[in-house]
Amino acid sequence: MSYYPLNTIPDYYLLDNLLTDEHKLIRQSVRDWVESFVMPQIDEAAQQHKDIPGLMKELGSIGALGPYIPVEYGGAGLDQISYGIIMQELERGDSAVRSAASVQSSLVMFPIYEFGSDEQKNKYLPKLANGEMIGAFGLTEPNHGSDPGSMETYYKDMGDHYLLNGAKMWITNAPLCDIAVVWAKGEDGKVRGLIVERDFDGFTTPETHNKWSLRASKTGELVFRDVKVPKENLLPKVEGLKGPLSCLNSARYGISWGVIGAAIDCYCTAVQYAKERNQFGKPIASYQLQQKKLAEFLTEITKAQLLSWQLGNLKNEHQATPAQISMAKRNNVKMAIDIARESRQILGGMGIMGEFPMMRHAANLESVITYEGTHDIHLLITGLDITGINAF
Ligand SMILES: Cc1cc2nc3c(=O)[nH]c(=O)nc-3n(C[C@H](O)[C@H](O)[C@H](O)COP(=O)(O)OP(=O)(O)OC[C@H]3O[C@@H](n4cnc5c(N)ncnc54)[C@H](O)[C@@H]3O)c2cc1C
Repeated sequence: MSYYPLNTIPDYYLLDNLLTDEHKLIRQSVRDWVESFVMPQIDEAAQQHKDIPGLMKELGSIGALGPYIPVEYGGAGLDQISYGIIMQELERGDSAVRSAASVQSSLVMFPIYEFGSDEQKNKYLPKLANGEMIGAFGLTEPNHGSDPGSMETYYKDMGDHYLLNGAKMWITNAPLCDIAVVWAKGEDGKVRGLIVERDFDGFTTPETHNKWSLRASKTGELVFRDVKVPKENLLPKVEGLKGPLSCLNSARYGISWGVIGAAIDCYCTAVQYAKERNQFGKPIASYQLQQKKLAEFLTEITKAQLLSWQLGNLKNEHQATPAQISMAKRNNVKMAIDIARESRQILGGMGIMGEFPMMRHAANLESVITYEGTHDIHLLITGLDITGINAF
């Protein structure tokens, strides 16, 4: 259960007036699920560095996996605002929960839906949508993070199959995955997507231990040693970095909404605590220094809500540019991490405790500000958009 009444969740500029009844229903049902399923166990999962058992099936049951994938493939056929709202509600619970849904939806289901064959769509999408199957997305490598175009993982055409070699690092859900969408270079140097199944010989997924961030999410490597990949597992409809980058655009959009949820959780907790906690004979909420913090939090949350809302409209109209998505991802993650850190101070010593969510969100957001393009890389994307000059 959240520490604050749910009716204190801010909607300062009445964005609710712009939502449909369906959007509000979706938000309510995901919010209820987060309250009943995520909140009671998230602190322990994060403290113990263990994932939440049955999480993917639960996410599937509430329609959070591939919400915008058409119903015929097991998705919910919803619009982009709905997807954003779902991400926001999930991340109010924890960034690990939102990350699980983001990866499965935008980085695994999206490329299979967008670039896959009919056979691939029919085989994988329904099971990914209901959480029976867990997917991972392999782009980052030990030597190539911000610069995926230099990737070393490669496949060779052996006539009746492809032979895949290389390694991916920092992969969400790697230790749990049933399939991985892996981006690798062919002999022509072009990047293609391959679907690698858990039981293919030579494919291993060692776990990355000792993280201080996203502790309720499993992270690991994808290692390929002479893995025979059937030819029908190549994504036929895309080649080049456009493939993985279009997946990242979808995920980054979702992150721009998601982190608003983390910020809201911190903000609402801080408001509630500041009103209850007395020092020098008065609630700390009555002091100007604390009010300044709270006022700035609400201003920043409201600005972020407006940014993501309009980006969602542009996405619905297929008009959102990668640079616009970079701006929203960068701005909103920084907004959330700043609010997590500052709101922790409002709770004084209590702010470091697991009973309150600030330290967990702040630590999680250190990953979120790094993955799906770092804070600096998104700035360079905006710089390139302004000047036409690539400063990478
Ligand atoms: C918890 C977690 C989960 C993740 N999940 C996935 C996943 O599921 N799949 C996946 O493929 N990847 C995943 N990632 C990887 C993530 O996307 C990368 O960590 C990220 O892209 C940055 O790459 P890097 O860590 O190699 O940093 P680097 O690229 O080495 O960057 C290090 C620093 O240098 C800066 N830098 C780099 N190039 C430039 C430049 N040209 N100019 C200025 N500064 C520059 C960066 O901004 C950064 O601050 C995950 C990461 C984490 C932490």
